[in-house]
Amino acid sequence: MLVIREVIEMDEDALLVLKDLRKWYKIKKGMFGGTEFVRAVDGVSFSLRRGEAISLVGESGSGKTTLGRTILGLEHPTGGKIFFEGRDITEMKPKDMAWYRRQTGFVQQDPFGALPPFMTVMRILEEPLIINKIEKKERRERIYKALSEVRLTPVEDYLKKYPHMLSGGQQQRLVIARAIILNPKLIIADEPVSMLDASVRIEILTLLRELQRRHNLSIIYITHDLSTTRYFSEWIYVMYAGKIIEKGLTGELLKNPLHPYTKSLLQAIPDPDAKNRFVIREIPPGEPPSLVNPPSGCRFHPRCIYAKRGLCNVKEPPEFEVEKDHLVSCWLYADSEE
Ligand code: SF4
Repeated sequence: MLVIREVIEMDEDALLVLKDLRKWYKIKKGMFGGTEFVRAVDGVSFSLRRGEAISLVGESGSGKTTLGRTILGLEHPTGGKIFFEGRDITEMKPKDMAWYRRQTGFVQQDPFGALPPFMTVMRILEEPLIINKIEKKERRERIYKALSEVRLTPVEDYLKKYPHMLSGGQQQRLVIARAIILNPKLIIADEPVSMLDASVRIEILTLLRELQRRHNLSIIYITHDLSTTRYFSEWIYVMYAGKIIEKGLTGELLKNPLHPYTKSLLQAIPDPDAKNRFVIREIPPGEPPSLVNPPSGCRFHPRCIYAKRGLCNVKEPPEFEVEKDHLVSCWLYADSEE
């Protein structure tokens, strides 16, 4: 079986490339000083092509939100590299970071918290255009276009409204309009539907998918809910305790999950079929580990029913390519123990 050591080669078509990205937070140890680190993101590598959507899936505390914020430049990485169109973001000067910010858009989890409450829709959308010195006539055109694209129409009905006058779904559409108004190439959507009513979740995901296809956008969709990824992405990357532990094409990974943790995430999805109410589900015991002192070897080993003592608790599994484009970090898939 092929073991992937250097995961990412520079791909000509790649928009974004992460190499061994780390984000650690320094914290004080006990009452008498000393420092230790929360390893929120700990060695993440992948590449994202133009026009491609990936879902980054994991429990809360897996590091997925920190990873998204670090890619956006809202957090400075502790180590590793981020390349965007071949340019190293981690070494970028503030002047060039302004360029990078125009290439990226952010859709947050809580739309109401993300919108300034004392600004009208018009003003919220106009602000990034003014900062980027877009002329008045073009500003108006772009605002009308963005609101039409997210289906807040007739546009005139919304321009003078404040965020509290909109429903949760309309607020999230406005956040998406703001994210696309500078024509970015990459959108990071962090749990964009988890605070919305079930009835509007699919609408918002479908809208993001339409925008992705229409504008050839690359999207990183961050979620704890594997069941929503089938509506959205080409790829699923599963994250656990600061690391990506499985990557695969969406259909293949959902049909044939490999990592015991991914299997448990799928088993945890509620099944409305009454016939399956007595089916026994393999849910791992315990909680995700502390990111201050993560377990040695495979970070999932304290919760894994397949863990092999003397191997899983000692040696970190490399990435194995089990099928074409389906990779997993788990010793169960090694031909021989290394
Ligand atoms: Fe379980 Fe070992 Fe695989 Fe980790 S490497 S998921 S402990 S079998």
